[in-house]
Amino acid sequence: MPGDGVALKAKDYKSDVEPVWCPGCGDFGDLAGFTQALAALQLAPENMAIVSGIGCSGRFSHFINCYAYHTAHGRAIPTAVGVKSASPELDVFVVAGDGDSFSIGGGHLPHAARRNPDITYLILDNAIYGLTKGQSSPTTPQGMKSGTSPHGMFNPPMDPVQMLLAYGATFVARGFSSNVKQVAAIVKAAIDHRGFSAIQLISPCPTFNKVITFDYMKQRVTEIPEDHDSSDKESAYRYALDPDRVFTGIFYRSEEPTMFDKNEHQRSLSVAQEPCTVEELMARF
Ligand code: SF4
Repeated sequence: MPGDGVALKAKDYKSDVEPVWCPGCGDFGDLAGFTQALAALQLAPENMAIVSGIGCSGRFSHFINCYAYHTAHGRAIPTAVGVKSASPELDVFVVAGDGDSFSIGGGHLPHAARRNPDITYLILDNAIYGLTKGQSSPTTPQGMKSGTSPHGMFNPPMDPVQMLLAYGATFVARGFSSNVKQVAAIVKAAIDHRGFSAIQLISPCPTFNKVITFDYMKQRVTEIPEDHDSSDKESAYRYALDPDRVFTGIFYRSEEPTMFDKNEHQRSLSVAQEPCTVEELMARF
């Protein structure tokens, strides 16, 4: 492991595995922002674990010098919660795509948000299934043609930020992978947040998504104004619901007990209210 008292640079967090993403893939900007955030916080690689799902984004965990688990499609969140439960001293990250997050693993997200485990969740959203060569995903824009919607997607897209706010996530943000500096700042704030921090990272797929391109997004993204109070959920919703602009930045954050705080509290209540020996407990059955 690098380190040994010397300050780590962003490049020190990269593993020896070279990214195999297509040239120009939006995921490169996310990777750069992520490693910059790690360097800014000087996280110890031996105290980090990344759990990734399936898809082009799932390869992310291969490229970082830390513990990693490339798990089954849609199951990154429960796997990461397990890792954090077993090893609470680790900084645990989930990296998943839009399909993994909102389709195959869509049932896990609301429960993670309300339980508030102390993990950082990066959603690399390219609005398409890239690894399997261009099928519509839950965030594919209405009307966009793809391998599975040759006449145009007829359903409206899901909006990750609106959903995360509604689910009760305690840290909700959106970044755009071409703005690496902003991605790094958001990821850093997400790691600092104690609880479930979720970030949608708009990450264009130039190979299969010819609608959500860098140029298309650059014309639409706008940073949330500095005077936004991120503890104000109503204000967060106003930015999330804006019909014309795609706001980036930290929409919402709130300090609340984590899943592990709540579990510990439950345990203390059980012990306080029902003191008994194992023999007494077994006798009840
Ligand atoms: Fe990136 Fe798309 Fe290529 Fe996957 S298919 S590596 S998302 S550009």
